[in-house]
Amino acid sequence: TFPVTELQEVTRDILADQAHRALQYSTTEGDPRLRDELARWMAKDGITANRDQILVTSGSQQGLDLVGRIFLDPGDVVVVELPSYMAALQVFRACRAEMVGVPQDEEGMQTDRLAQVLADLARRGRRPKFIYVVPDFQNPSGITWTEERRRGLLQLAAQYDTLVVEDNPYREIRFEGMAPPPIQSLDGGARTIYLSTFSKTLCPGLRIGWMVAREEVIAQLVTAKQGMDLCSPAFTQAIAAEMLRRDILYRRLPVITAVYRRKRDAMLRALQREMPPGVRWTRPQGGLFLWVRLPAGMDTEALLPEAVERERVAYVVGSGFHADGGGQEAMRLNFSYPSEEEIDEGIRRLARLVQRHLPLSTSSTIPRTTVSD
Ligand SMILES: *Cc1c(COP(=O)(O)O)cnc(C)c1O
Repeated sequence: TFPVTELQEVTRDILADQAHRALQYSTTEGDPRLRDELARWMAKDGITANRDQILVTSGSQQGLDLVGRIFLDPGDVVVVELPSYMAALQVFRACRAEMVGVPQDEEGMQTDRLAQVLADLARRGRRPKFIYVVPDFQNPSGITWTEERRRGLLQLAAQYDTLVVEDNPYREIRFEGMAPPPIQSLDGGARTIYLSTFSKTLCPGLRIGWMVAREEVIAQLVTAKQGMDLCSPAFTQAIAAEMLRRDILYRRLPVITAVYRRKRDAMLRALQREMPPGVRWTRPQGGLFLWVRLPAGMDTEALLPEAVERERVAYVVGSGFHADGGGQEAMRLNFSYPSEEEIDEGIRRLARLVQRHLPLSTSSTIPRTTVSD
């Protein structure tokens, strides 16, 4: 899905027309042309931001690290989804934050459970610095939050005076259904810090992501970023700006989405065909991942060596995505990279492994509050 030909053309033109700029340092905030293009790009989703509310980052992972640096002191509380994006948990852990998980169902984070968690924290005199969420085709679960859950989150964030960090790399990879509005767009960005990236739509090799926040927050982020890398690469920023200006990304999205939709369908079909009863999985409407839950008592971390050595198939174990130590019976599967044939064969092998280790009774022991179909 990488736009190799387009990148060749754009890169050649940049070196011909603007080499002096593209090969210099950029400003820490980012190439102004790229920030203007990003403002235009996000406007299609109802996100209104001007150039000064946008910071270009070296991938959105840097954005997460910056958020950790400017907001978190050791012992601070961060609220996260169960499960949540592993590399964000790593950042918050490195800041020695205390992470509190809130379960999701197929509509997103459960508002009543979040209300409970925030009330409990308030009773202990604790206020989370922010609530970190991946509301569209979440990595790892593939779940998308409904608009109602998004509004519920903002209402609680206002009530308990905390922020929302909305990490949204997959929004544009939608296969079907209507897109709920970004959380950022629902409160005009008053309490939301929004992150996105070209890694999942163009290619991760550019290392171009961005953040949207209020100007006083951007100012703090810029100071922190200056000490890390001075600026994101001017060269790949120029490329990204040109890819947007020429509407190349816009025109490619349907192509990319069609590829991943076919692969998702192949994985869902294979799971349906191969998996024994008692195994559950999500049916994402977009993105790159789905989430499989084995019957209670099974342990995907314990099974992984046998999966790799005997079946030559791999997955990401669920516990790494859980701030609360749960997720033993879960795994993340990725349908974006393997071919449809590899997906078929991989699921066949995985099912064989599961079948071999199935507990004798696999009745309905799956708790109501967890992610399932
Ligand atoms: C891939 C991913 C990122 C990081 O992407 P880069 O822009 O490549 O750093 C951040 N958050 C989530 C949820 C991701 O899946």
